[in-house]
Amino acid sequence: MPDNIQQRIEDLRDQLNEYNYEYYILDEPSVPDYVFDEKLKELQDLEAAHPEYKDANSPTQRVGGGITKNFPTIRHQFRMYSLDNSYDFDDLEDWEKRIVKTTEEPVEFVAELKYDGASISLLYEQGKLVQAVTRGDGFQGDEVTANVRTIPNVPLKLKGDYPEKFYIRGEIYLSHKNFNRINVAREEEGLDPFMNPRNTASGSLKLQDSSEVKKRGLSAVLYQYISDIYPDAETHWDLLSKAKNWGFTVSEDRAKLCHTLDDVKAFINYWDTERHHLPFDIDGIVLKVNSIKQQQQLGYTAKAPRWAMAYKFKPEMVETQLQSVSYQVGRTGAVTPVANFKPVLLAGTVVKRATLHNEYIMHKLDLHENDYVYVEKGGEVIPKIVGVNKEKRQPNSLPVTFIKNCPECGTPLVKMEDQAVIYCPNELHCPPQVVGRIIHFVSRKAMNIDNLGSETIELLYRKHLISNLADLYILTKEQLLPLDRMAEKSAQNIIDGIAKSKEIPFEKVLYGIGIKHVGETVAKKLAKHFGSVNALEQATTEELCNVEDIGYKIAESVVNFFHNPENIQLVERLKSYGVQLEKYSSATEIIDDSLSGKTFLFTGKLSLFTREEAEEMVEKHGGKNISGVSKNLNYLVVGEKAGSKLKKAQATGTVIILDEQQFLDMLHS
Ligand code: NAD
Repeated sequence: MPDNIQQRIEDLRDQLNEYNYEYYILDEPSVPDYVFDEKLKELQDLEAAHPEYKDANSPTQRVGGGITKNFPTIRHQFRMYSLDNSYDFDDLEDWEKRIVKTTEEPVEFVAELKYDGASISLLYEQGKLVQAVTRGDGFQGDEVTANVRTIPNVPLKLKGDYPEKFYIRGEIYLSHKNFNRINVAREEEGLDPFMNPRNTASGSLKLQDSSEVKKRGLSAVLYQYISDIYPDAETHWDLLSKAKNWGFTVSEDRAKLCHTLDDVKAFINYWDTERHHLPFDIDGIVLKVNSIKQQQQLGYTAKAPRWAMAYKFKPEMVETQLQSVSYQVGRTGAVTPVANFKPVLLAGTVVKRATLHNEYIMHKLDLHENDYVYVEKGGEVIPKIVGVNKEKRQPNSLPVTFIKNCPECGTPLVKMEDQAVIYCPNELHCPPQVVGRIIHFVSRKAMNIDNLGSETIELLYRKHLISNLADLYILTKEQLLPLDRMAEKSAQNIIDGIAKSKEIPFEKVLYGIGIKHVGETVAKKLAKHFGSVNALEQATTEELCNVEDIGYKIAESVVNFFHNPENIQLVERLKSYGVQLEKYSSATEIIDDSLSGKTFLFTGKLSLFTREEAEEMVEKHGGKNISGVSKNLNYLVVGEKAGSKLKKAQATGTVIILDEQQFLDMLHS
């Protein structure tokens, strides 16, 4: 039925184009890669069997991706290709045969990790980074140089014997550690967590504010030298070694030069298991013909080099059936849906539940009761549902809807405007919120009461010995001793730890109290600006919004917090127990104005004072601290191992560089 085939081809092309758009432009794929790859393969097979329907614009013939309106568009001098994929060793053997047929001589391969991030092309001239461009559609991409400059392992200036002008290509990626850090912070702020490190890396590259990009903590690895001129090298391997000497982080570090396909297989088998121990995601192995002469002989198809091949690991994804959705209430009251499914083996462990993150994601998945779902284990420890097999959906199954009342305390749930998160508003009496808040209060970055663990806090709460933060300060050793496994010494340590926490400075207490959206940095700013909890209590939304970096959302949250008499009472109680709820007057006391009108920045490892002490000294003498090297900076005070800030300051020619002692002398002169 040719008509049906043509229709199917067109449907597949439409779907794949849409998926490409979501994946490359929005950085928000709606289906797992596995589904995309299957559809692409079906389209490839249909086009091969029916050449009459061939089309140069088909997704099989084009590099997926595109350009955005937010950055200057740059045409690539050398096209950026994709890679052909293979999923088994037979494919690799066929590929080798095809290569040898062209080269008519033995071939060596370089096997590298296939880093799962976003491709980038860097241009260096006279050893300096001059341009960074995304792959885009392969012909042209987005110029994101300012953002790439913030990535610590992208050299801005090269070392050694580098060619005058060349491009080097690689991947920008995000480590698991940084991905998880970003998501913890996002969840704390009530924002949607990011889906995976790949899309986060790609999305970060396209942020408008480079200082935000810097905070994300991206990394780069480079894997291909490109130029008209090759610097005295005959192989890809040599080029990688040279690039390493020029200062790049290159794929060679975890690559292998393979003389036979058996070497290649050994490398693949090794990384198929070892990849789970890497601190970042890879989605396969890339094989490249080592000889540059042979690479040139082999050339390119419309979409990919003939001299390279990606070997994709079998997706760590399984299909299983949804049994129920349960809900967890977190410290901030955010209610997280969790999918419970038929236990299934995934990446060597049995999994039976996965987070659904929030209502938005649950809704986007369009989950119905008893659906068959795809569960994936990416870089993170917790598995997640990445899609639904709608073909297996039972005809009358109902959509899963978010609960209306808190599963812990029964309070009707609320949804904050423009946020995906649904909250239980009963902050002060919903058990997990109360316990979570106390755990947060004693944590290292807040009151730092390290002898009091979360299990003990839970126990104290269950035994009605504490029901809020302030109750900690009236606990007695006698109350603790009868608790399970509580020795005399541990009880004493807890009491001592609580007593010692009364010395913790105001800004940390403010952070510890757990006002929604008031993280560490915000707490510091508020403490500094208002000076005391009483002044903060009186502040209006407008006054709060006038503080640097405090937006409406935070301001509103602070005002709401102090509207509640129970919170006021809590703060008063803390104060009565001697907890620091204002800045020491000496801290803000102005000694003189000898530094008035002067700006300072501290960098490197300081040994005569801490950064906080130094900044305080500047303020006490009427000076101002600023956060970066700019034309507004007057003095850079450098400690040991000062790095980029020092170089940047030296380059300005206007910033005065001081060591720590010179800074102290300046205060006392
Ligand atoms: P690809 O990611 O499979 O391979 C090409 C890319 O690999 C290169 O552009 C380069 O960036 C990268 N790479 C990593 N390490 C490398 C190394 N050592 N040497 C050379 N290149 C290296 O191809 P693609 O065209 O970027 O993306 C296709 C993939 O993206 C598919 O597998 C598909 O699963 C996924 N995708 C998914 C969706 C979706 O909706 N889920 C949509 C589009 C694409």
